[in-house]
Amino acid sequence: MDYLELANVLFPDIQKTPEDYEAMYPPRALAEGARVTRFAPSPTGFLHLGGLFAATVAAKTARASGGVFYLRIEDTDKKREVEGGISGIIDGLAYFGIVPDEGRISQSEDKGDYGPYRQSERREIYQTFAKALVEKGLAYPCFCTAQELDDIRAAQENEPIKGYFGKWARCRDLSMEQIKEKLAQGMPWTLRLRSSGTAEQKIKIDDFIRGKIEMPANMLDVVLLKQDGIPTYHFAHCVDDHLMRSTHIVRGDEWIASVPIHIELFKACGFKVPKYAHIAPIMKEETDEQGNVTGKRKLSKRKDPEASVSFYAEEGYPAESVNEYLLTLANSNFEDWRRANADAPLEAFPFNLKKMSASGALFDLAKLTDVSKNVICRFSAEKVYAYVCAWAKENDRDFYELLAADEAFGVSMFNIDRTGKKPRKDIAKWSEVKDYYAYFFKALYQNDFTFPDNVDTPDIIAILKAYDAVYSAADDKDTWFQKIKDLCTPLGFTPNVKEYKQNPDAFKGHVGDVSGVIRIAVTGRRNTPDLCSILALLGEEEVHARIAACISALA
Ligand code: GLU
Repeated sequence: MDYLELANVLFPDIQKTPEDYEAMYPPRALAEGARVTRFAPSPTGFLHLGGLFAATVAAKTARASGGVFYLRIEDTDKKREVEGGISGIIDGLAYFGIVPDEGRISQSEDKGDYGPYRQSERREIYQTFAKALVEKGLAYPCFCTAQELDDIRAAQENEPIKGYFGKWARCRDLSMEQIKEKLAQGMPWTLRLRSSGTAEQKIKIDDFIRGKIEMPANMLDVVLLKQDGIPTYHFAHCVDDHLMRSTHIVRGDEWIASVPIHIELFKACGFKVPKYAHIAPIMKEETDEQGNVTGKRKLSKRKDPEASVSFYAEEGYPAESVNEYLLTLANSNFEDWRRANADAPLEAFPFNLKKMSASGALFDLAKLTDVSKNVICRFSAEKVYAYVCAWAKENDRDFYELLAADEAFGVSMFNIDRTGKKPRKDIAKWSEVKDYYAYFFKALYQNDFTFPDNVDTPDIIAILKAYDAVYSAADDKDTWFQKIKDLCTPLGFTPNVKEYKQNPDAFKGHVGDVSGVIRIAVTGRRNTPDLCSILALLGEEEVHARIAACISALA
């Protein structure tokens, strides 16, 4: 067989050679050890947590080594593409602060010297490399129809190895005449790899996450180009990762089983085989109706709202919290590092691919909540105010109007208990803020004059009357507390909690009970941030009005 002739018969329009592309996309001038990684999603829907996780890991891998992280859009399957899929991915990543160094940056624009970064714009490149494989006798046209392939599948039902190979590969040894005849008849064809693998051969990889893996080598004549000339994922990513000079393929471990095909393809094309890091999927515990853990399963796009990244924006988890949480899932040593470096930016964390779990990290919303509270408590009040406003603008217009009406008030509100050594960890997500802080707003405040049983109603009224007479919005913390303490003794309470504990029968209660009464009367809550600051911020008119309303409700 004259393979050169075959290549020209199959690809008459392809004039370029692989060498042309090698020259166009030379090896990157990066320092030794710099890793080039990519995120290569198909625009088949919006970004999912697993995708964000993979992108985070790939980006950290590149950045930790002074390398390059790029975004490639794998849109060879037009049927599965959704409208807005590309911008959904780009915007989704950007929301979480992931801005690739190069790659697709909008629906139609690229940044970087190794593009185009969208596979549907690389047809000629794939065809050039496909043609070169035909020239080397490593690929051939296959004219089998869908029906014929179904028949092969049916006939292989009891075979240990299934697929297009050996005696099943009917088109592998067609003569030039036969090929020309079929082409002349206009028969559609796919291009297949002429695999050199045998049933005995094994391949070995040393995966960064999964460790050393040995697998049977590929022996299937897999499809490289579909009937429309569009490459399969296998072939396209191999050409792209070579020409874009990826050093590390960081991707989901659903691709592990295809590694033997990929290794054969890289070698057939004369490319260096890249390093692999296959990420285990994020898992979720399954529970029965009583809440008992019954097992683990993959986080599911269908069943779990938290699998979609839009969940986090809608609930109002700031990107910083999600990023921080993803690192706790990614690297087991992250939390120790965070404890030792409470204020360090996430970028300072020495991310290590080898410290990733091979079996899949467990997603836990309670843990995210915890992480998020820790992240948010380190935000400035101004930042919290800006974030809550931005969230409310999209998700709760009424609340937004209230917040936006008085910025200074909003910032002061969020500043309560925020600046000390141990800032209050009350907020995990912006959607909780309205409820937590409702009593700061006349329009939202709902009184709840339910007091603890240990204080009698006449005493409650007496406390409120006495406090109402001395309250001033201008009181600083010490003055305020002194006033509360001064109320205690005449009313039969003690300002000294220790004294109360030693002799509880001698008093009606202690200073905490007194301030608790005031807290409930004014906020409707038993638990709030610093009461003195709340009373100052609410202002005299409002505080007097709330106390008066409480007294008349109880009287
Ligand atoms: N387009 C493939 C996917 O979305 C990419 C896998 C890879 O990263 O190579 O699963």
